[in-house]
Amino acid sequence: MGAHAKEKVMDPVCGMEITRGDPDTMVSEYKGRSYYFCAQCCVRAFKKNPERYLKPKGPFGRFLIRLVKANVKVFGRAGPPCH
Ligand SMILES: [Zn+2]
Repeated sequence: MGAHAKEKVMDPVCGMEITRGDPDTMVSEYKGRSYYFCAQCCVRAFKKNPERYLKPKGPFGRFLIRLVKANVKVFGRAGPPCH
């Protein structure tokens, strides 16, 4: 795996698709893994409660994922919800 490869990744906080390696893309490490974020506010939200964003389990988690996808459809990629 090239560390500088450009690759589409998902911001686990807001669900936005971002590009790894872009200057705007934020990185945060958690438990030895790197996670990528569209903005500083998403990094802050993630650091506050990482487990909440990494393990969307059960019906409520699936509901949240559907919600994020619906938001992307409706609002496009204008920006993260925390802006
Ligand atoms: Zn985000």
